[in-house]
Amino acid sequence: MSNATSWGLCIQCKWWQIDPDASLEKSTHGLCIDEDLQKYVLRVSGGSGCNRFVNGVPARAEGSGSTPPVAKPAR
Ligand code: SF4
Repeated sequence: MSNATSWGLCIQCKWWQIDPDASLEKSTHGLCIDEDLQKYVLRVSGGSGCNRFVNGVPARAEGSGSTPPVAKPAR
């Protein structure tokens, strides 16, 4: 079974959370706030992706792109 149909880029995913002033670029880094992935404090770029992708616009919160991210999930 393939998950290819649900795979997508973080830059187009509603679970991607970036800093309030961050631009939408593949090189921008942010926090993945997918409910099942939150525990990993996963910092991903706009050009990253996975098969938990859900189409949408990114959430925004200060510290989302820090190393490590310090923002709380906004969704
Ligand atoms: S890692 Fe997956 S679920 Fe998280 S923001 Fe990127 S595409 Fe979305």
